[in-house]
Amino acid sequence: RRKKIVQECETLMDKPENIRNIAIAAHVDHGKTTLTDNLLAGAGMISDDTAGEQLAMDTEEDEQERGITIDAANVSMTHEYEGTNHLINLIDTPGHVDFGGDVTRAMRAVDGALVVVDAVEGAMPQTETVLRQALREGVKPTLFINKVDRLISELQEGPEEMQERMTSVIREVNDLIRGMTEEMDDIEEDWTVSVEDGTVGFGSALYKWGVSLPSMQRTGMDFGEIIDLERADKRQELAKRTPLADVVLDMVCEHFPNPVDAQPRRIPRIWRGDDELDVAEQMQLVDEDGEVVLMVTDIGIDPHAGEIAAGRVFSGTIEKGQELYVSGTAGKNRVQSVGIYMGGEREEVDHVPAGNIAAVTGLNDAIAGSTVSSEEMTPFESIEHISEPVITKSVEAKNMDDLPKLIETLQQVAKEDPTIDIEINEDTGEHLISGQGELHLEVVTQRIERNQGIPVTTGEPIVVFREAPQEDSREVEGISPNRHNRFYLTVETLEQDIIDTLKQGKASMDMPELERREALQDAGLDKDTSQNVEHIHGANIIVDDTKGIQHLNETMELVLEGFEEALNDGPLAAEPVEGALITLHDARLHEDAIHRGPAQVIPAVRQALHNALIDARVKLLEPIQEVRIDVPNEHMGAASGEVQGRRGRVDDMYQEGDLMVVEGVAPVEEMIGFSSDIRSATEGRASWNTENAGFQVMADNLQPDQIDEIRERKGMKLELPESIDYF
Ligand code: GDP
Repeated sequence: RRKKIVQECETLMDKPENIRNIAIAAHVDHGKTTLTDNLLAGAGMISDDTAGEQLAMDTEEDEQERGITIDAANVSMTHEYEGTNHLINLIDTPGHVDFGGDVTRAMRAVDGALVVVDAVEGAMPQTETVLRQALREGVKPTLFINKVDRLISELQEGPEEMQERMTSVIREVNDLIRGMTEEMDDIEEDWTVSVEDGTVGFGSALYKWGVSLPSMQRTGMDFGEIIDLERADKRQELAKRTPLADVVLDMVCEHFPNPVDAQPRRIPRIWRGDDELDVAEQMQLVDEDGEVVLMVTDIGIDPHAGEIAAGRVFSGTIEKGQELYVSGTAGKNRVQSVGIYMGGEREEVDHVPAGNIAAVTGLNDAIAGSTVSSEEMTPFESIEHISEPVITKSVEAKNMDDLPKLIETLQQVAKEDPTIDIEINEDTGEHLISGQGELHLEVVTQRIERNQGIPVTTGEPIVVFREAPQEDSREVEGISPNRHNRFYLTVETLEQDIIDTLKQGKASMDMPELERREALQDAGLDKDTSQNVEHIHGANIIVDDTKGIQHLNETMELVLEGFEEALNDGPLAAEPVEGALITLHDARLHEDAIHRGPAQVIPAVRQALHNALIDARVKLLEPIQEVRIDVPNEHMGAASGEVQGRRGRVDDMYQEGDLMVVEGVAPVEEMIGFSSDIRSATEGRASWNTENAGFQVMADNLQPDQIDEIRERKGMKLELPESIDYF
């Protein structure tokens, strides 16, 4: 059976009109995994009996244990719709916002997103997040309202109440879609969903039945009959008469665009190269004879085959033996094998043409997000990370013998998940992992222990701070130790739009100068400044405003090194600096290169920049999170108290269904341990989630203690330079 499916897939791979690349996006626990298993069973990938229990997509052991999906895994299946066989490539997306980077990457590889919403809970914050991620990538949504069985058997709702509830879910989702697509001028169609159009399905992933308007018309079933069967516990009959997989896969084939329809619209959105080039046309036409272009969305590990790069082939045909460029690296990699995903497993095939999802081995330099191509080309837009790492934990191998293996594993982890930052410290053996939240780091360390069998000890989670100038500085002079070199510079503050543009990688040193200039000007940087950008480091810009200074060109690399050092370790507490516009106005350099080497230039520049930052009243910024808690009325006070007691702010409290919702904001640092505190404060009756919401200047009266605390932890001397007296 499996072999037959692989053969079917291979035949279908060459017909892009019959391919659908899709993702299922949902708030955690709304039923994505259960639904996916249904689809796989419906397509004959796993047996019907085990669907719902097997959780085929959650291949990692820790995911099964936690019951949440973490890694974006891929599966392909076939489905016959209106007499034509279709190939459906499904990319799994994580449901927890702590893994936001994975979601965005998965979205880039697909053209349609099936949004799953729990009928009882309705649209939740992560529904909004995943929907936004889909729309931002130009991915078309449809809606499946799940757990309808609960409305019938638990809540005892009749046809009218059910209809009302569905209408309200559809309205919520459409409000989100309308709000987000209004300003997207490349989307001409109306992307709101409706029962009448067949872009809404509903049913029960647990009991394997589903309906949509077309299926109701075909089977002659109505709400009343569905309710009767569900109440009478005749779920098997229901599942037989209107099987979930058929209804959903029909919807997928009918309403999601195939690659030939999708790529002309999506390519300009995700690729900013020269549209006159052949490769631009080849990608838009899904040309299997064109240059090879693969966008890597995920790096997986196979114990036998090693690293596997999975991604969407936008043009050309990928085959064993090809020598391909990997964006951001110098050399080429040789393709060792190509394959497709079936369930959790990879099947080798001869070739994978444009429009498909491929699994490729041999691309050792590729990371999630790489552009891989047969000719050198402008890479795809760097993927927007909605959140940057805000929390750090140290890991140490319990046994010295494991040290090399631990380092290798950490490097691997960073490659698979670009939202993770790794700092290897070979001297102390205490390495640092930074990520999106407490849970994110917990999952990573558990994987190291379990999958790699490396016992580790971990430190307390530590919040990552930033240092940012608050006003413009005066001109500051930097003098080298030998007093033969002098640098004159100022620091100004960057506007938030510019900072965001830099953080999202929309303007970077990797892109052609003209594009970078345009992106910076769009964000509000003035024209002159944008033309003189010498370097970008983190969310900081360095401008060279000097004219005709002898030897400056040859010295510039050292100057930038000094700036980078100063920015990596800010003057307050050696935390990264952001939001600084640094202008080099003038310099005096010694004639003789020997007297303007690294030991002279770097400290002069570093010290000057620190002094300028202090003159610009640099302050500590801390990461904050938005919190939403759903809780029964009687626990509402306790829940809002948990937020307020954490230097937090409650913004809104309102009733939704039979629960109260508390929405607020709190610093990430105070949110450590929230999980167990809220559980005990509400007798376990609260469900909650958080989303990173950027950085915020800490209150002045809290700054000195916080700075001391960080300096002490880092083994720095406690007293600050006298010039920092503004707290
Ligand atoms: P995911 O986090 O979105 O992948 O959600 P899961 O598929 O793991 O489902 C979360 C929980 O909801 C599990 O306990 C499922 O058994 C249950 N569940 C999923 N679909 C349904 C459904 O249609 N009806 C009911 N009653 N429970 C469901």
